[in-house]
Amino acid sequence: MPESGMAEKAFTDRALTDKAWPAALAFFLALGALPTIIFGLLIGFGELALLPGLISWGICITVALAFGLLLGRDIGVMSQLVRGLRTSPEDLPREMNLLVPGMRLLAREAVNLIRAERLNQARLSDRSAADHALLERLPDPLLRLNENGAVIWRNASAIATFGLETAALLRHPDLRAALGEAGQSGVPVRKSIALTVPVPRDLDATVIPVSGLVYVLIADRTRERNVEKMRADFVANSSHELRTPLASLIGFIETLRGPAADDPEAQQRFLGIMAEQAHRMQRVIADLLSLSRIEISEHQPPETILFLPPLLERIVAGMEPMQQSTGTRIELSVPNDLPRIPADADQLAQVFTNLLDNAIKYGKRGGCIKVSAAAASTDSRFAPNGVLVSVADDGVGIAREHIPRLTERFYRVDKGRSRAIGGTGLGLAIVKHVVNRHRGRMLIDSVEGQGTIFTIWLPTRAG
Ligand code: ADP
Repeated sequence: MPESGMAEKAFTDRALTDKAWPAALAFFLALGALPTIIFGLLIGFGELALLPGLISWGICITVALAFGLLLGRDIGVMSQLVRGLRTSPEDLPREMNLLVPGMRLLAREAVNLIRAERLNQARLSDRSAADHALLERLPDPLLRLNENGAVIWRNASAIATFGLETAALLRHPDLRAALGEAGQSGVPVRKSIALTVPVPRDLDATVIPVSGLVYVLIADRTRERNVEKMRADFVANSSHELRTPLASLIGFIETLRGPAADDPEAQQRFLGIMAEQAHRMQRVIADLLSLSRIEISEHQPPETILFLPPLLERIVAGMEPMQQSTGTRIELSVPNDLPRIPADADQLAQVFTNLLDNAIKYGKRGGCIKVSAAAASTDSRFAPNGVLVSVADDGVGIAREHIPRLTERFYRVDKGRSRAIGGTGLGLAIVKHVVNRHRGRMLIDSVEGQGTIFTIWLPTRAG
């Protein structure tokens, strides 16, 4: 306990007179009464001569007076001291001007008591400041409500997450029910809450009653539930994608063994459809496998340094048969001084093949596809330390609401059309995961009826 800051206590004369004289008088009277009676009786009954009697009585009275004065004065000082400790406990006196030894001990004990109390309070307030800082910095929103259910404090996360919507949150029937239940039982109650506005959110609220107050701790489960839902959708979708062609194959096999057993013409037709369905299943399985292979390595950015132009030329050349069947033209524009990038050549080949494949599939018949590469400094939407590759078609385009979902597995704008032209619905999901592995970005610009531009930004240094 630091004592340097303590001011020395000065007791004023007035305070001393206030306190000391009545006490001194009382002590003096108490101590002087007995000798006066005894000496009075001894002199009165002639047991003691007048002069020696008066001298002895005078000595006793002087001692009583002196002691009364000292005690009375010390009581005055003590009561001032105790009052001082009560009114300003931070100013502990360093010296106590007390004359009676027992009083000095008493005063020291009083000061020590206050000192211990101060230490205790300082510890308590340190602890409560630390507790408060912890609650304030909790990553999850936390609210403190009074006994009437009004918010009296919110931590930073609650302010950031709910802002002005806190009142709406507290009005939610499920949360109100949890507050009521916790208020009655006195034990924490947990409830799941689904908010619909302003954005759908899945929350877990824990209501904790603590000595008349109520704490509401909120955990935002939206992301986890979305991931769970996506996983469930994925399993449902992939089994559906395989089950449909499989059912069709089984159906045709039965037809071939039964009604069409003696019809060579129908057999040829059915075998053609069956081959197509089998190829579709093969494509879906191949895409699912490459997707899971990419996901496995997604946390490790590639290290091999790659010069993109030859790769792009090779891919464009590989599109020749498709180009011919649709009458599409591909224009490639790649500068020779394009910066080299850390990349996985096979995975990037898959990315640009998928994008070109889509550009031809969903582009205009006889249209023109532009593939261009450039240093990223040429486009202010991207960080300059990278390269850009864009694939632009002049096809049907994509309505704005579909764009954020295109990279989801099996998401297609037009399911029928995608299936009819051999799509698996996994092409852009593969693109997204490869770009993620390269720590890159993909931007989709599209105008319905005019065309779509897929732009991939890849960093010149992975990290
Ligand atoms: P798919 O195998 O169906 O082509 P993708 O993942 O490659 O699957 O694409 C998802 C969907 O995005 C497609 O079904 C299509 O609706 C849309 N799409 C992709 N590329 C284009 C494009 N260049 N123009 C218009 N729509 C496109």
